[in-house]
This record gives sequence, C-alpha cells and structure tokens, in this order.
Amino acid sequence: MAEHAVTLIPGDGVGPEICEASRRVLEATGVEFQWDVQNAGEAAIPEFGTPLPDQVLDSIRRNKVALKGPITTPVGSGFRSVNVALRQALDLYALVRPVKAYKGARNLRDDLDFIIVRENTEDIYAGLEFEKGTPEADHLIEEISGLLKKKIRPDSGLSIKPISVSGSERIVQFAFDYARRNNRRKVTAVHKANIMKHTDGLFLAVARLVAERNKDIEFEDRIVDNMCMQLVLRPKEYDILCCPNLYGDIISDLGAGMIGGLGLAPGANIGTNGAVFEATHGSAPKYAGQNKVNPMAVMLSGVMMLRYLEETTAADALEKAIANVIALGENVTYDLKERRDDPSAVGTSQVADAVIAQLKAGERPSRATTAR
Ligand code: NAD
Repeated sequence: MAEHAVTLIPGDGVGPEICEASRRVLEATGVEFQWDVQNAGEAAIPEFGTPLPDQVLDSIRRNKVALKGPITTPVGSGFRSVNVALRQALDLYALVRPVKAYKGARNLRDDLDFIIVRENTEDIYAGLEFEKGTPEADHLIEEISGLLKKKIRPDSGLSIKPISVSGSERIVQFAFDYARRNNRRKVTAVHKANIMKHTDGLFLAVARLVAERNKDIEFEDRIVDNMCMQLVLRPKEYDILCCPNLYGDIISDLGAGMIGGLGLAPGANIGTNGAVFEATHGSAPKYAGQNKVNPMAVMLSGVMMLRYLEETTAADALEKAIANVIALGENVTYDLKERRDDPSAVGTSQVADAVIAQLKAGERPSRATTAR
C-alpha cells in the first residue's frame, strides 16, 4: 500500500487534541501516512510573526492534501481569518459539507443525508471591507452615491460582495461533477436573486446555463430563506445544495444542528491543486486542553480525506466504526448526550480508543449491528 504524504495542521484551542485523536484512528485503518506537521494560527506567531507562515502553504502545495484543526481568528486584532486566507491562497474554491444523520445522534430526524457545496473564495467573504469614517470609505460612499443616485448614510461601513461568472461556473460544475461521482440525483442552487440581481442573479443565471450542460442530473433553485424552511420541513427532497459563500456558511450550521451539533459536522475544502479537510466547528477555546470535546467532526473529515485519496475500503471501515460508537452511545462526548452534564460522557481520547476498538472488531459481530 502506498504511503500518503499529508500536511497535518493541529491548529488552536481544542485543535491539537482532536487532530491527535483523528490521526490515531486514521492510522488504525492500516493506511500509511507520512505526516508533515505544520503550525498555523496562534502557535505559529511567536516563531514566525504570522499565523500563516509560507511554509504551511508550501507544505500543502507539495503534499496536495492536508488535515487541519480549527484556527482562532482573534477578534479586533490585525489578523484576518487564517482559515479564509488559506482557502484563498490555495484557491480551494469548493467547500463540501455533508449533513448525514448517524443513528443514535441527537438528530432532528434519522433520514437526513444531503450535501452542501459552498463557494469558498468570493461573495461577501472576499475581504473587500471599508471601515466607517476612513477616507477610503468616505470616498467610496461619495462615488456610489453619485453613480447610483442613492444615498448611503455617511456613518456606514461597507463590505463589497463580488460574484463572478467564472467563480460561479466552476462551483456549479463542481456540484454536478460531485453529484455524478457520488451517485447523487439533484443539484439545487441557493440564492437571493430576487433582491441581489447582479450578484445572486448572476450566480443563478450561470447555474442554469451549467445545468443545461449537465442534463443527466436534475437541477432546480431555491431562494435561501425558503431553502432553510424546506430543509427543516422536507429535507428528503434535497440532495446537493450549491451555495454562494455566505449562504453556504449559514446553511452548514443549520445542517450541523439538524444532525446533533457541530461535533459531527465534517468538511473538505477542495481546489484544482489540492484539498484541506477540516471540521465545520471552530477552536472552542474555552475547552482547550481539557480532553472534553468531540473529535468526530475531524475524524469524519478524515473519512472524506480517505475517499479523496481513493482509500475507499479504509474510508468505509472508519465511517462504520465511528457510526458504531455513536450508535452504542457509551463512549461519546458530552455533546452527544441528552444532558450536557451527563457524568457518563467520555473525553476526546477515549472516543479515539472506542473507534479504534470498533475498527479492530472489524467484521466480527458487535453490539453495533444497527449502525449505518
Ligand atoms: P466554535 O465552533 O469554536 O465553538 C462554539 C461552541 O460549539 C463551543 O463552545 C462548544 O460548545 C461547541 N463545540 C464546537 N466544537 C465542538 C466539538 N468538537 N465538540 C463539542 N462541542 C463543540 O465557535 P466559536 O466559539 O464561534 O469560535 C471560536 C474560534 O474558532 C473563533 O476564533 C473562530 O473565528 C474560530 N473558527 C475557526 C474555524 C476554522 O478553523 N475553520 C471555523 C469556525 C470558527
């Protein structure tokens, strides 16, 4: 079996402990990894003076695959989000976030299985921000007021929302390709084109054109607010949701809530030249170093990584082992319990032990026969 070189970024807060738990279960699948451990975030600042040193990007460019812990974005400091910067620097334009209900989790309903494909590089997240009262903001307000003959209050801050034809085209095509590769039947484009005609309207128009070229997969669109309601009422009607950046971000957390919380919500940032796998959740700093939080979102991101590496047997085995641990409900963290203060909740590393035990049990009959 070939060894896979993978960049491992432990990250901030709870990142190191959930990444270590995930590394252990990934190795227990029998797949061989050559981990290239790289510090980014707060851990990198003392040594490199920046939370995103060039060598982290170089490592991912070299290995083309990374498993990443969450990274804190300090509020009010000069640093922009390392997570957003990394996605933009590597042009990881598609963020794939499956929403899948595992039996035994605190699911809204047990038949949930849809995938969010979020555009990852443009929209209001492009970082085109103008602080209230700066000469640049004042200048822009004056220009826009002149161009559009509309008044913007002078005490406004501004964020620019660019959505391009090329950016929309590649994310919608990605959603169709992903659907085809993963035996999915439908792509739903999510937008607010009725209000933002030149950004979301453009996204929708491009999506319709791309759909014309992908007629083997069903296509439809939904306005984002309606989409949220539909997902709660009739989730089975949806399969792949293709979203511009902001709506994808918000719907991801809605989806995480529907399957029992952030502790079970994985993700993959994918570009033409590589992929970074990470949980949807952040660094949960208040729990750092306590061996408390759920490592399964990173473990399930690891399952996505194994599929990306075409280690399908290992991916299936690891997903099944995680599902078994959830279904048994004995070795799970506090967030999967009915009550958050349930004293029977175990810690991060014990979850890894339990998943490894399930992997080792393999095909032998176990109590987890109901897990999917
Ligand atoms: P968060 O996701 O870190 O935590 C919110 C709450 O969710 C936690 O207090 C905890 O109760 C729960 N939670 C999160 N992960 C959990 C887990 N694995 N198991 C059990 N419970 C879990 O969100 P936040 O507090 O808004 O953000 C903290 C920091 O993380 C911020 O600096 C933010 O910018 C950053 N962040 C990073 C990423 C990323 O690295 N991709 C994503 C989101 C937020």
